[in-house]
Parts: sequence; structure tokens; C-alpha cells
Amino acid sequence: MYFDNSATTAVDPRVLEEMLPYFTERFGNASSMHSFGREAYNALEGARERVAKAIGASAREIIFTSGGTESDNLALQGAAYANQGKGKHIITSVIEHHAVLSTCHFLEGQGFRVTYLPIDQQGLVDVEKAKEAMSKETILVSIMAANNEIGTIQPIREIGAIAQEAGAVFHTDAVQTITKLPLHVAKDNLQLMTISAHKFHGPKGVGALYVRKGVKLRPVVYGGGQERGLRSSTENVPGIVGLGKAIEIGVAEMEESAERMSRIRDRIIEGTLSKVQGSHLNGHRNRRLCNNAHFRFDGVEGEALVLSMDVSGIAASTGSACSTRSTETSHVLRALGIRPEEGRGSLRISLSKFNTMEEADLFLAELPEVVERLRLLVPRGAMTFRASGGG
Ligand code: PLP
Repeated sequence: MYFDNSATTAVDPRVLEEMLPYFTERFGNASSMHSFGREAYNALEGARERVAKAIGASAREIIFTSGGTESDNLALQGAAYANQGKGKHIITSVIEHHAVLSTCHFLEGQGFRVTYLPIDQQGLVDVEKAKEAMSKETILVSIMAANNEIGTIQPIREIGAIAQEAGAVFHTDAVQTITKLPLHVAKDNLQLMTISAHKFHGPKGVGALYVRKGVKLRPVVYGGGQERGLRSSTENVPGIVGLGKAIEIGVAEMEESAERMSRIRDRIIEGTLSKVQGSHLNGHRNRRLCNNAHFRFDGVEGEALVLSMDVSGIAASTGSACSTRSTETSHVLRALGIRPEEGRGSLRISLSKFNTMEEADLFLAELPEVVERLRLLVPRGAMTFRASGGG
């Protein structure tokens, strides 16, 4: 049973089928003038249309990248350098993914000033605090659409409106949100948006950045001038074809699959809280991604829990696990005000459209026993707090 879909998802067979010819007979370079090149170019532009359509953008506003991390880097570094003539202040939140946070740390080293907005106990960024942090110097605001660990959905539409009113560029990392919630670049006040294919049943190593017409960006990667000069390098045609197909399917099936996942998620949340004593839900009760349930258990070590569940055939994670295997305390749990001794027993369940209610019931049948066994095995106070970061 695979419950770690915020780390990555299985490629949808329909996506794979569409990708396969672009590895073999349709292998052309999209920049070549001959028929092989034109075939690849047409596939690239078809995928661009699909991505644009899924978010209410126009095809020219889509830049293909190698994934969420690169898109975040291009958005933040690109907007910071291109707009530094106007000011050097950036606003973000303390619970962003490391692809945003580490880029902000890098930019601080380059002379930019960054405000890290706090979150409340349910993981929400306060719109008023975002407003107060804005100044004439602010050139960029980056707030994720929903958090990858605890699933809290942020008020991006409101923050985007504030940013744009003040003349700052608004970026959102929508890696966990695309195909889970409807996102529309105009209605949601988005100017830059990060997308990663492998979170919605597309292939790994391919993503996109939505760049609203008129938003100034400086490239991070220089070379042959592909992607309107914003991302040089021969395009990953099979991957991009996969991204286009995955987002098209994901958005077309979103209503139904989000509804199903929410029901499974709620069964898991209610079942866990009622069956396991000393269990707590992290994040927001309602403003939560349809596929996320994040718990902490008193007197249990998260990694031991994940490994024991794995032995029982259930793959989940300790909070987040799509960055390198870090043993640091999760910055998200710390920002929630959860003390290390409370947070060490964390478990993230993240669903996909392929999970079933039967799997939720099997999980609920297994979990209380595993938690109980671990509590008996590990003497209280003998544990060290370890939770993976990122992802
Ligand atoms: N942003 C968020 C919110 C994520 O969850 C991830 C996951 O890894 C990333 C960015 C990085 O995306 P990628 O793995 O495509 O580089």
C-alpha cells in the first residue's frame, strides 16, 4: 500500500503510453529544422497548450524546467535579479519547501532582505501580517499554495492581490496543489507558479513555471536560448509530453478524484484519532489538501513507526521525504510550535487517486497495534527527535 504520494506518485499508464514514442521513433530535437525536429517541436507545443489550458494561462506563459526545484529557483532568483532596480525586499513564509527557503537564503547572501512570515497553530499564513510586511522595497512575494508536510491550504488569492496592488511579483509553489485544487492564474492573482509533474502521476525530472506576460525574469541557466531564453538546454520532450498528459488528465478528473481522496482521508483521520490514544492531527482541520493526513503520536519515534509500517506493507513517511534524507527537526513542525519531544512521532499519509477505502481500513487495522508495540519497546525519554525535512 503506497501512502507517500506527496513524495512522488506512480506514472499513470495513459501518461506513459503517450510518452513512449518520444524515446524511440520520435526522438528528434525540438530545435532541429527537419521532420524529426518538427515532430518533437509539435509535441512540445502541444504539451505547452495542455499545461496552459489547465491553469487558465496562454501557452507563451509556460516555461518547461527540470522540476519543482528548478522552477522555484527560476521564479525567485529570476524575479529578484530582474527587479532589483526597484528594491531588494522579498517576502515568503517560514514553512516553504527548501527549494524556496534555500534560494531565499542564497539571495540574502547576495544583498536581498527576506521577511519570513510566521504561521498560526494550524499552519496558516496571516493575510494581515503579509500586508504589514509589504514595503516600497518589496519586489517579490512567494507563498506556497499548500504545504507539502501538513497539507494546509494558504490564502494565496488574498496575498496575491495584496502583492500586486503594491507592485510586487507574486509567486506560488503549487507543486502539491495542482490537480488537487482548481487553480486559475487570473482568478488566483498568480504571476509566477511552480509545477512539478511527478506529484500528479507524471514523470520525474520535469516541471514548468508559469510566467505571466509582462513579468520580468532573469534566467538562471544560460545557453542555446530555448524556452524564450529563460531556460536553455535541449527540451526533455518525452518528459514534457508526460507532463502535458498528466496535467490534462489530472484536471479533467480532479473533481471526482479529490472527492474520493477526501473521503478516504477523513476515514483515516477519524479512525486514527479515535483508535489510537495519544494521537494528534497536525495542520488545519478543514483547509487541508484532499490527500493529506499528518499525525503525531505520543511516545513513538516517527522513523521506527515508518519502518514498522513498511514491514506491514504500508509505505508512509515521517512528515516529508522528498529531499535528501535529513535527520533535522522539520522546520514546518517547529513553526507550528510543536516541541521536538512532541513532534518526533510524526507520520504523514499522502494519498493518490489510486488509493482505496479498503486500504484505509487495512491501515486502520494495523496502525493501533504498531503504535502500541513501539510504545512498549521504546522506554519513554529514550528517543531522539528525528524528522526528515523538505519534500
Ligand atoms: N515544492 C514543493 C512544495 C514540494 O513538495 C517539492 C517536492 O519535492 C518541490 C517543491 C520540489 O519539486 P521537485 O522534486 O520536482 O524538484
